[in-house]
Amino acid sequence: MTASIATHQTILVVGGGIAGMTAALEAAECGKQVILAEKTPTLGGRTSLLYRYFPKMCHPTCGLEINLKRIKGNPNVRVMTMTEVTAVTGSRGNYRVTLKIKPRYVNENCTACGDCGKAVQAEIPNPANYGLDKIKAAYLPHGMAYPQRYVIDPSIVGTPEGEAAKAACKVGAIDLAMQEETVEITVGSVIWATGWRPFDANKIQPYGYDRYANVITSLEFERLADPHGPTGGKLLRPSDGKEAKNIAFIQCAGSRDENYLRHCSRICCMATLKQTQYVREAWGDEGKSTIYYIDIRAIDRFEDFYAKVWQDPTVRFIKSKVARIAENEANGNPILHGVDTEGYHRYANEHDLVVLAVGMEPEVTGVKLPDDIVLDSSHFIEGSKSGGMFGAGAATSPLDVNRAVQSATAASLRAIQVIHQTASTEAA
Ligand SMILES: Cc1cc2nc3c(=O)[nH]c(=O)nc-3n(C[C@H](O)[C@H](O)[C@H](O)COP(=O)(O)OP(=O)(O)OC[C@H]3O[C@@H](n4cnc5c(N)ncnc54)[C@H](O)[C@@H]3O)c2cc1C
Repeated sequence: MTASIATHQTILVVGGGIAGMTAALEAAECGKQVILAEKTPTLGGRTSLLYRYFPKMCHPTCGLEINLKRIKGNPNVRVMTMTEVTAVTGSRGNYRVTLKIKPRYVNENCTACGDCGKAVQAEIPNPANYGLDKIKAAYLPHGMAYPQRYVIDPSIVGTPEGEAAKAACKVGAIDLAMQEETVEITVGSVIWATGWRPFDANKIQPYGYDRYANVITSLEFERLADPHGPTGGKLLRPSDGKEAKNIAFIQCAGSRDENYLRHCSRICCMATLKQTQYVREAWGDEGKSTIYYIDIRAIDRFEDFYAKVWQDPTVRFIKSKVARIAENEANGNPILHGVDTEGYHRYANEHDLVVLAVGMEPEVTGVKLPDDIVLDSSHFIEGSKSGGMFGAGAATSPLDVNRAVQSATAASLRAIQVIHQTASTEAA
């Protein structure tokens, strides 16, 4: 189906994380027409799944709330969720884009009252908590979700559960006949704000993520600390629900390693320093964090935060690349084996829980991108040969939120220039 929702004066932003939202807003607030396409049911991206932000330790909700308010108030931005960009052809000023729109089975009448969720018994792994707990198969992705609209999981469509959800809805918002759609649009410029995904910890065999319940990733740890997470914000370990007070953090899990990701994921050191403060917050002086590291990369303005954590008596730093993890079968404790490179002592240290600071790789790794897109050796987006498509945020490099926003603003300006040049060529 070809849709007339865009023209070659339109900017398409692919990905509705913090970078995509920023890029869309900057262009829209300059009067440009923007389509913001996000493949999941809500805007916010991975930032919305963090518990706190370094270095201020504030909640991500503040930044998201401001951006959502700006988006809601701007008629120049058209938000399309559950929409994936599957193909782009053409050149600068005139791109043909294919969008695949998945059915939500819930229309804009939804008031997010939750009646459909109450009527359904079936559960699915909770995407907002990386599958660490379950939610009903009729669900609101999370409290800050935009649009504030439920989603019916396809697993209950065509079942009595789906019908029960529909019957419970008093405003006629559930439409189980919705189908997947493919839409083609024309746009003048494309901003790829497709973000990142965590390196698959299962691939790091010596660390036993696939075997030991008490070895988790840094993303999962964010959810454990969050009151909306699977444990209601308590640092409890997955194997037995015991309080996790003695926690090991392993840096460079997947990054800076010829076997996995060659690049430094840059964020992980700061994320770990931040997470030691979740441990302090939870257990006070009784909590113990041990960071196993090669070197700490707390880039520029974050040095003060690093210095503060270094002074914290509950945090210990061991300069070492952990060689392997075993498990004490009697109590489920992971045992870390390696050599401390400052004293060259061998260690076998037991902890309640291990958090792997997993690396960041581009979300588009393995995805067929337009031939025009130029990637670096780690598959991050550098730009396009025809000069009309731009990367933004963590799609271009492992960036923190501040830098992702700066990069998105720069991409937006370049896209605006493409639209201006297209308009002046037409006028001439
Ligand atoms: C453990 C950990 C903790 C962190 N803590 C902090 C912190 O405290 N402070 C900080 O500043 N940074 C932190 N970060 C970094 C932060 O998560 C990133 O800076 C941020 O997520 C980058 O935002 P983004 O919009 O570029 O990418 P993302 O958040 O990944 O958003 C990309 C969006 O694009 C969508 N998308 C992808 N492909 C398509 C497609 N083909 N079509 C449509 N949509 C698509 C995705 O669904 C997603 O919504 C942390 C990172 C980690 C690993």
